[in-house]
Amino acid sequence: MELSSSILEIKGIGEKTAKAFESKGVYTVKDILLNFPYNYIKYPEISNINDASEGSTVAVLGRVLNVPYNRGGRLKQVILRIGDDTGNITVSYFNMPYIKNALKVGTVHVFYGQVKKIGNQLQLTQPKVFDEAEYSDVKAYLNPVYHLSTGISNNLTKKALKEVISLSDKIEDYIPDSVILSRNLLTKADAIRLLHFPKCDDDIIRARYRMVFEEFFLFLMKIELNKGNIYHNGIIMDSLDYVKGISASLDFKLTKDQESSLNDILSDMCTDVPMQRLLQGDVGSGKTIVAFLSMLNASKSGYGSVLMAPTEVLATQHYNNLIDFLNRINYSGTVYLLTGSTKKSEKLKIKEALSKETDYFLIGTHAVLEEDCILNNLGLVITDEQHRFGVKQRETINEKGLSPHILVMSATPIPRTLSIILYGDLKVSLIKTMPQNRIPIKNALVDISYRKTAYEFIRKEVQKGNKAYIVCPMVEPSEGLDICDVNTYANTLRDYFNDDIKVQMLHGKMKPSEKNKIMDEFKNGDTDVLVSTTVIEVGVDVKNATVMMIENAERFGLAQLHQLRGRVGRGDSQSYCIFVNCKDNDNKRLEILTKSNDGFYIANEDLRLRGPGDMFGVRQSGEIDFLMADIYNDAEILKEASEEVSRIKNAAIISRYKDILQQSLNI
Ligand code: ADP
Ligand code: MG
Repeated sequence: MELSSSILEIKGIGEKTAKAFESKGVYTVKDILLNFPYNYIKYPEISNINDASEGSTVAVLGRVLNVPYNRGGRLKQVILRIGDDTGNITVSYFNMPYIKNALKVGTVHVFYGQVKKIGNQLQLTQPKVFDEAEYSDVKAYLNPVYHLSTGISNNLTKKALKEVISLSDKIEDYIPDSVILSRNLLTKADAIRLLHFPKCDDDIIRARYRMVFEEFFLFLMKIELNKGNIYHNGIIMDSLDYVKGISASLDFKLTKDQESSLNDILSDMCTDVPMQRLLQGDVGSGKTIVAFLSMLNASKSGYGSVLMAPTEVLATQHYNNLIDFLNRINYSGTVYLLTGSTKKSEKLKIKEALSKETDYFLIGTHAVLEEDCILNNLGLVITDEQHRFGVKQRETINEKGLSPHILVMSATPIPRTLSIILYGDLKVSLIKTMPQNRIPIKNALVDISYRKTAYEFIRKEVQKGNKAYIVCPMVEPSEGLDICDVNTYANTLRDYFNDDIKVQMLHGKMKPSEKNKIMDEFKNGDTDVLVSTTVIEVGVDVKNATVMMIENAERFGLAQLHQLRGRVGRGDSQSYCIFVNCKDNDNKRLEILTKSNDGFYIANEDLRLRGPGDMFGVRQSGEIDFLMADIYNDAEILKEASEEVSRIKNAAIISRYKDILQQSLNI
C-alpha cells in the first residue's frame, strides 16, 4: 500500500464505507492519516450508583434488575432498572429496541453515560454498555473521537487507522531537521501516530504542538517568500492639502486617532511605494469617514478607487453616505454601486463606464471581483471589515489595478504583535478612542422574565423618536428547540404593540433588494422596531437606534455579541443593550460584556475563560483557514515558528519551500 492508494485497499473498507469517507474529502490512505480526531474521551473509574449526580457523566457497574420494557411513544423508549451495593437507578434508551435482548435480567455490565433529571427522578440516559474486562481495556487509553458521517463508525475509523498507521513514516515532513532538533519537536510521523493513538494527555499536547508549528511555519514561509516579489511602482497621489482642508471643515471634528490614521494613509499614498495598511478600530470608532477621505484623495488626484463591503446592506449604506458626503463638501464625482442585485443591464452599463473612467468612486460587494469587471486607472482599494474576505479574494482585487494602494479596515481586535506577524508587511494604524459625543452604552444582562419590562422600555424610547433592534438566532421556528426565531417573534411583538409601534423583520433568506428596502424603512422611514437575525451585525449605521435587545444571547460568541452591540450608541443619545439569557447557565461569560464596552478587553477575557485547555475548540482564525492552529490560543507557537522562519537563510532550504508552496498546498 502507498500513501496515494485508495482507501478501498484498506482491510475492512468496502465501497459503501469508501463513499461515506469520500463525502468528507477522504479518498486516499494519506487523507485518512491526516483526518485527525477532534476530541478524546477518557473513560472514568467506576463509581457508585449512589454517587451519581445530575448532569455528570459516570460509569457504574450495575446488575439488570428487571426485564427492560417499552414505554411506547414515537421514540420507542426502553426502560430498565439497574443496581449495585449502594443503590438503584433507572436507565433509558431511545430508538434502540434491540437493547432489550442484550440486557438480560441478572447480568452485570458497565454502563457509561450521562445522568439527567427526568421529572424528579435521576436517570442514566442512553448509556454505552461494556462488559467488565472490556471496560478496563478502554479505560487504559485515551479514545479518539472522529467527525463521523453516516456509514462511518468511530470503531471502523480506528481499525482502518491501525492498518495504515505505519505509513505515516512516508508523509513528507515540512520542518527542516535542524529546526526539529533545536526546538525538540516530534517528527511528523510520530505526531500523526500520537494524535491517533495517544496514551496520555501529554502525547496529544506535544503532537498537536508539532502539527500547529508546521502549519504556522509554512504560512509564514509563504509570507516571507512573497516579500521578495518585485513591486510595480506605486502611484503618487498628492492632494493631501485639499483633503486635509476638507477634513477640517466637516460638521464633526475628527478624533485624534482618526486624524493620525488619516495622516498615515495620506503620506503612504503620496509615495511611489504602494500602501499596504491595516486600519484597525473597534466598532463605531469611525473608520468609514477615514476611508471616504482616502478615496477623495485618489479621485482629486485623478484616480479611481473601490471600497468593498462584505454585505449588500453595508455596501448600500456606504454608497448613500458617500453620496451625502460628496454633496456636503460640494465635490462632483461619479459614484457607482455594484452588488449582486444590481440589474444586469445596469451592471453592464457600470462596467462599461468603469473600464474607461478615471477618477470614479466605486462601492461594491464580491460582485466587483468578477473577471469582466475592469477597473480603469484604479489607484486605491479599500476592504471594509476585511476578516469577512478571504486572502484569495483580496489578491484578486489587488491585481485589478497596476499596483494600487491598499487599505484594509477591521474591527477584529488582533493583538498588535500578532497582526504584524500575520499580515507581514502590512503597517497598522489604530483608532483607539471613540468619537467624543459618544455616551457609553448601558448594558443589562437579564432572563426571560424581563421581556415585558424591556418591551415597555422600547415603547418609551420609540415615543422619544428612537428605534430598537431585536436580534434572534433563527429565522423560522425549529422543532424541539426552544430558540427565538425572527418570524414568530415579530408576530408576537406586532400583537403586543398593536398599531402603536411598527415592527418589521429582516433576515438573510430575504432577497437583497428586499433587505435594502427594509433597512431603508428602518433608517429613514417609519419602522420603529427591527426584529432581525445577525445580518445586521456588520457595520450598519442608524444613528437614532438606541436599543439593542439580543434574545438567546447565550448562543452567541462574545465577539459577535460585541459587534451586535456596536449597532447602537452611534448618535449622541444614551443607548442600551439588553442581553437576554434564555438559559440559566453561562451568565459568567455574558457578564464580561456588561463590564466593558471595549472589544480588546472582551476578546482577551473570552480567551482567558475558554482557556488553552480547549485544545480542539473553535479555531477563531477567521482570516486564514488553518487545520488545527488557532491564532489566539497558539500565539506562542506562532511566535516561535516566526523566529525559526526568519532564521532560515540557506538557499537550498528556501528553494525547497518554493516548490512545496507551489504545489498549491492548502494554506
Ligand atoms: P466603524 O468604525 O464601526 O465603521 P463608522 O465609521 O460607521 O464606525 O462610524 C460610526 C458613527 O460615528 C457614524 O455615524 C459616523 O458618522 C460617526 N462619527 C465618525 N467619526 C466621528 C467623529 N469624529 N465625531 C462624531 N461622530 C463621528
Ligand atoms: Mg464600519
